[in-house]
Amino acid sequence: MTIADIRRRLVVTGQVQGVGFRPFVFRLAEELKLAGTVHNAPEGVVIEVQGPAKPVEQFSRRLELEQPPLARILRVVIQDIPAEAEASGFSIKKSTGGAGHDVLISPDTATCPECQAELLDKNNRRFLYPFINCTNCGPRYTITRSVPYDRPNTSMHCFPLCPDCAREYENPRDRRFHAQPNACPVCGPKVWLADRSGMVVARRDEAMRKLAAILLQGGIAAVKGLGGFHLVCDATNQEAVRELRRRKHRPHKPLAVMVPNLDTARALAEVTRPEEELLSGRERPIVLLSKVRGAPLAESLAPDVDFVGMMLPYTPLHLVLFQRYGRLLAQERQNMPAALVMTSGNLSDEPICLGNREALGRLKEVADIFLFHNRDILIRCDDSVVRVLPGTGETQFLRRARGYVPRPVFLSGTGPSVMGLGPELKCTLTLTKGDQAFVSQHLGDMENIETLGFHHEISEHLQDILEIQPELVVRDQHPNYLTTSVAQDMARKTGVAMAVLQHHFAHAHAVLAENRHLGPALCLALDGTGFGTSQPNLGMAATWTIWGGECLLVDTQTLHHERLAHLAEFSLPGGEAAVHEPWRLAQAMLWELDIETSGADGTPPWPWLPEFELASRFLPQILRKDLNCPLTSSCGRLFDAASAMLGLCQRTTYEGQAAIVLERAQDLGIPLREAAVYPCPLVKNTGGERLDADKVPRELDTYSLFRGLLRDLGAGVPVPVIARRFHASLIVGLAEMAARFAKQHGIAHVALSGGVMQNMTFAQDLPAELAALGLIPLTHKELPPNDGCISLGQAAYGQRLLTLRGACPV
Ligand SMILES: [Zn+2]
Ligand SMILES: [Zn+2]
Repeated sequence: MTIADIRRRLVVTGQVQGVGFRPFVFRLAEELKLAGTVHNAPEGVVIEVQGPAKPVEQFSRRLELEQPPLARILRVVIQDIPAEAEASGFSIKKSTGGAGHDVLISPDTATCPECQAELLDKNNRRFLYPFINCTNCGPRYTITRSVPYDRPNTSMHCFPLCPDCAREYENPRDRRFHAQPNACPVCGPKVWLADRSGMVVARRDEAMRKLAAILLQGGIAAVKGLGGFHLVCDATNQEAVRELRRRKHRPHKPLAVMVPNLDTARALAEVTRPEEELLSGRERPIVLLSKVRGAPLAESLAPDVDFVGMMLPYTPLHLVLFQRYGRLLAQERQNMPAALVMTSGNLSDEPICLGNREALGRLKEVADIFLFHNRDILIRCDDSVVRVLPGTGETQFLRRARGYVPRPVFLSGTGPSVMGLGPELKCTLTLTKGDQAFVSQHLGDMENIETLGFHHEISEHLQDILEIQPELVVRDQHPNYLTTSVAQDMARKTGVAMAVLQHHFAHAHAVLAENRHLGPALCLALDGTGFGTSQPNLGMAATWTIWGGECLLVDTQTLHHERLAHLAEFSLPGGEAAVHEPWRLAQAMLWELDIETSGADGTPPWPWLPEFELASRFLPQILRKDLNCPLTSSCGRLFDAASAMLGLCQRTTYEGQAAIVLERAQDLGIPLREAAVYPCPLVKNTGGERLDADKVPRELDTYSLFRGLLRDLGAGVPVPVIARRFHASLIVGLAEMAARFAKQHGIAHVALSGGVMQNMTFAQDLPAELAALGLIPLTHKELPPNDGCISLGQAAYGQRLLTLRGACPV
């Protein structure tokens, strides 16, 4: 050391383990000729550097500027310490263990360009090896059992490194230094192909070739991927796609497609610049793209919509599959694009399969052939689904899972650890730690024992890897949700405190948490699900209404909650059945409007009723006697009613189908303001009997809106025009309602959440309308507006609740 040398200690926290951070530090220190050490410790990555002041200064600066691609530095705490007399050279020290790790596991990451080049290089020892990876790419979250992220804690523990791999693993100058999933054909995992009985048909490259051939012939395969199994078939083969739908019991819901590269994506869909970035980024979500007219994709891929969900290969296994498939395709069917359906390997509504035996058992009626491998998936994780909003270029999440999880959402402040258990449908769960909220991957619909098991697994796993237990769990208000019994179980077993939060207030807290909004805000919670948002009707203890189109006042600081207004209520005849049969909602709305649905001569004047003749004849009686006809203010159900009235969709096979069809039917050539011709004012009440005692306007009169729609329908106005007018009138009505309450309460921020915000017209035009009225719209940025965000809202609310109440029991 020279007299002028200084020594500095840096503690780096964030996503800095398993991302090549220490070798990066090592190389940077060597380049700047600094002495010192680096190691992983419970509090983060601890670095000590020593040398002349100038390079030490440079080191601190470049550390943040040049961090490795997967690293995400949250904080660097720098401290000057006394220089050491004997310091020379830089070294990586052994990790120190212990509890309370403050480092994050990285999400799974798509194969990097370097690995991709090696994979396709005939002279490389990993040529076409389906498990190639390095410190900058490969599996992380799905193969990690516990922290710290070291090989023994991953599903790679049973693959001892061969001498070549070990050399890479131990050399700080190698890009596979401490790459925990490092492997090669000699020492790593292997693939094989099996038939429905589990018999091995082919191994290694022969398995990949055979699989490609079977797919090209129209077969359906179950392929073990990163976070679970996919069901795979040729996306250009109408017969194969139809057969897959039949076997999977999924008649209409859009299926996602994987294509080998951007060129193929562009041949099949329109790809804008931000969409290109999402497609080829390291998270590799499914991106919803506008279909190119006449593209050779099977029509049954996504029959209801003009878009197609597309993704690029994100594992080397996918790259090898396309290598083999593409070659065969070129030989046999020139000029056809390589496009494979890749949809979650599950039966409708169950979680994605993860184990080999589990897949064989559950998928043997669906798949003709199985591609297995022997690297265990420890954590199941579906593909994420996103899209780009054309107006703003912003990304909207529809499902957040692989590639993004377990990356945290940053909250506006810190607080005790709280778990949000999520709702019934599109469930996620959230655990907070300090100012970070860890929202789980999409878990699915909590309607079966499999999803309940998955929920439990992830609840335990999050507590394990974050090394924290919640002080409070927050559940939905619905008494019959499975998450409610989960909360009760947890409370009984661990004694953890429990709080309850109404579904749409949870929506509000979620979008406000994402935007780190402090203080009061209005929230329009426009939801589709309807069920499970029950609240006793004020003054009518026996009746329950179902919310879903709410104007709420929420203060994230004081937790003041107020339901300012809601959409006019109407009946859901038959309860749950009405959700699957929109024609019931159409008829119920007509009944509310006092419009006869059966003609005087006994023939129904509504062309869509004969199909449901018997049931539709009983419906007025059910409505009159109020038999299983809960009232709802749901916004989504209005879309269903309109869709059915316009003859677009009478019966749905997946959630949101009727609304999706209505959205697509719109004549988008008509400007919004010009189309907003149906009145949708804020009124005191819409029905004579359900008078509000206070007579304060707190209902958005959607009855008037429907009267306008029906007048147009009677006058023979084309359906696309009516569909456009419906959207536009509702948007303008909602925006004006928000403006009125904003003025009354002196609030500028209007948060938007709920399943309806997945409607592209709403996602683009409602914020624009609010902004035009001088308001500040707040929308979801990191989570979907659908129920996938509920657990975040619950957790953020719970954290504030504990902070407010201090040590008091909840
Ligand atoms: Zn790589
Ligand atoms: Zn090896």
